[in-house]
Amino acid sequence: MKANSKFLQLIERIQEGHVMTREECEFLLGFDEKSLEAGITRSVADSLSRELFNNKGLVFGQIGVEIAPCPGKCKFCSFSEDFTSFQSFSMDDEALYNAADNFTASGELFALALMVMHHTPFERTLDVIRKVRARIPAKTQIVANLGDFSRTQAEELKAVGANGAYHVWRLGEGSDTQFPASQRLATIDNIKAAGLDLYYCCEPIGPEHTPTQMAEIIMKGLDYECFQHGAMRRVPLPASPLGKYGQITESRLAQITAVVTLVAIHSPQICSIGVHEPNKLGLMSGANAIYAETGANPRDTESETLGHRGLDIEACKRMYTECGFDI
Ligand code: SF4
Repeated sequence: MKANSKFLQLIERIQEGHVMTREECEFLLGFDEKSLEAGITRSVADSLSRELFNNKGLVFGQIGVEIAPCPGKCKFCSFSEDFTSFQSFSMDDEALYNAADNFTASGELFALALMVMHHTPFERTLDVIRKVRARIPAKTQIVANLGDFSRTQAEELKAVGANGAYHVWRLGEGSDTQFPASQRLATIDNIKAAGLDLYYCCEPIGPEHTPTQMAEIIMKGLDYECFQHGAMRRVPLPASPLGKYGQITESRLAQITAVVTLVAIHSPQICSIGVHEPNKLGLMSGANAIYAETGANPRDTESETLGHRGLDIEACKRMYTECGFDI
């Protein structure tokens, strides 16, 4: 069995430092997940990633602080008011501190992401970050995960203790969501202008998404010099309009994670590659960042994702150990 010669040439050039173009990204995504080319893509991404990141796996934590039926109505999100089964819930200070303490007690957490809803009042978001910043070790990064915000608000997030923000121009933005791409990208501009680290991702990937669509999203992360890139598959929620499309396999997610890795690997700003949700195939294909989660999770239908879809830190560490990483 012989691999495609154009593919082999490209892989060799990437190993020598070539920064991929959008067309090349699309080309790599076009191979079948079971192909020899996909296998080589995953293997090379794994090798380059371990070399760049010194074989270090990073553990992130995410706390879902707020739940509400969301008027954003994104077709892939379990909070969409069109089909959610969630009641509104706001984590009180005691629960917030307990969750933050549980994540940071061992000193192994690289960053803690704090997730609120798109329409959570901004003052509440600032209050949550301020309280957690005062509670957890200074070395632990705080990542804000919220809706769109202005340049001034980005600076306020930073002022109260956020180090970075998770924000994404998503697949299907404007059609599977009500948000124009310009609005999402303006927020990413604001993150960068305020000097916050940009946590980015190609998401939420479903079986209907084409290599062309994914390549466009992936390359945007590179354009914006993201701090973390990654890939996340969509969880098919039976009640959502996208549930009928089903889900990509972990094998396809691993291939896409590998392509993301090869796109991002030569960017001076890149510090980690995420795979969501955590899985070993992704960690063997270039990813070195996985998230433990507690509280609400937009891919879950349980208000406490820990013990359901969400993993705890020990489970993340076991996954890294099984994949030969140092933590
Ligand atoms: S993804 Fe965000 S904006 Fe969209 S429905 Fe979910 S919480 Fe609302």
